[in-house]
Amino acid sequence: MYDLVINNGILFDPARQLRLQGHLAIQDGRIAAIRNGELFEGKQQLDAAGHIVCPGFIDMHGHIDAAPYCAELSLRQGITTTVGGNCGASPLDLEQFFREQDETGFPLHQAEFIGHSTLRRTVGVEDPLQPATNEQILAMERLASQALEAGACGLSLGLAYVPGSSAEEVLRLSRLAARFGRLISIDTRLLSNNDLYSLVEAITIARQTGARMQISHLVYQYGTGMIKEALTVISKAIQDGLDIRFDSGMYTEWATHIGTVLFNEEALAREEWKLEDIIVITGPHHGQRLTPELYKHLRAEAPTTSVVVLTGIEEEIYQALLHPSAMPSTDTGAYAPGEGHPQIAGSFPRYFKKMVANRYDLSLMEAIRKATLLPADTLGLLQKGRLEEGRDADIVVFDIQSLSDNATFFTPDAPPSGIDYVIVNGRLALDHGVIRDNKAGRSIRCQCPAYDYQI
Ligand SMILES: [Zn+2]
Repeated sequence: MYDLVINNGILFDPARQLRLQGHLAIQDGRIAAIRNGELFEGKQQLDAAGHIVCPGFIDMHGHIDAAPYCAELSLRQGITTTVGGNCGASPLDLEQFFREQDETGFPLHQAEFIGHSTLRRTVGVEDPLQPATNEQILAMERLASQALEAGACGLSLGLAYVPGSSAEEVLRLSRLAARFGRLISIDTRLLSNNDLYSLVEAITIARQTGARMQISHLVYQYGTGMIKEALTVISKAIQDGLDIRFDSGMYTEWATHIGTVLFNEEALAREEWKLEDIIVITGPHHGQRLTPELYKHLRAEAPTTSVVVLTGIEEEIYQALLHPSAMPSTDTGAYAPGEGHPQIAGSFPRYFKKMVANRYDLSLMEAIRKATLLPADTLGLLQKGRLEEGRDADIVVFDIQSLSDNATFFTPDAPPSGIDYVIVNGRLALDHGVIRDNKAGRSIRCQCPAYDYQI
């Protein structure tokens, strides 16, 4: 008798491009058997009649970093693995982080980048406009090595937040990630509105260091009328033989802290952002548009208040995600209940609803590939992103007809409809909106044995 079985589903395995009406059995956290015909029997039996059964979604760009509430919001979307430590900000001691996650359990599996901004602060570079000294770079290299040895999936750069970073520090740390065969995630520098040079800079880092590169939330960076040009630049780099991929979200409005250098008065003038196009999404001023008084107050007294900036063009969301190297992502963060951006609860259901069911941009198989197999391979996780015997039993069961995101800027954490079951590590974690198990997730220590360390 198997531990858990899912009968009568429409099974999708993007690795083999296989679609099968059938049943799936799980034993000891792994997919034990797949067949059509006779039903499986298990200690726990789920019926998926007429619904889709596919690998759990992998979110390449999040900021959960062990925060349980937003992890549950991700689980409710069908996400079984989240990648944290993005945009340059991560836990510093990843050995300890991974150990604690494994001791306590977590709603999802977590892979982590080591963040450049975190390293800078740790070695004493307080000013985001200043470059690091040679000694500080050496100290950052030591800390980054420790994190990569502990299993960090790569180095994250948040150059928009530390625009003073020198080419020297960025290249030396990137070379280190490349030597470990790990990924670089980059939140590009964006020196001005519609600054495509920042994308060229990212590609130049990959070219000069040999690092594999994941460009962060492309629509938030270039979905302001520049997405076609940005995609052309990326495609050209891929044709040249570079390993460049990117993630992108389902919204045009992006969120971050008001206290960052992005909202300096000079930056606001340069970007031509109007204060009334910036909306507060956390704290006592939640829901208000910025005024000159509120802007001054929050910058001085509450710099970690989150705001969203309304800058993007909707059509560019879909153009970005059509690219074969694009993966959907949430950019989720650790918000309190009732606060935040709808991306924290709606992203993946919205991706399938809009791009598959409403617009026919992507076939269902291709949409699943981008949300599962492509991120798994980007991280070097060959046990994930596949629906095949012997692979990890991280699975989502959903109904494409009733799938719907319900989160809005007024109800940012409203859970989606249409997700039936989410299985994490072979355990039933979510059952029709009810969380049954929030401890099944494990830390993911990347090893990337497939890559040559002798660069
Ligand atoms: Zn981010």
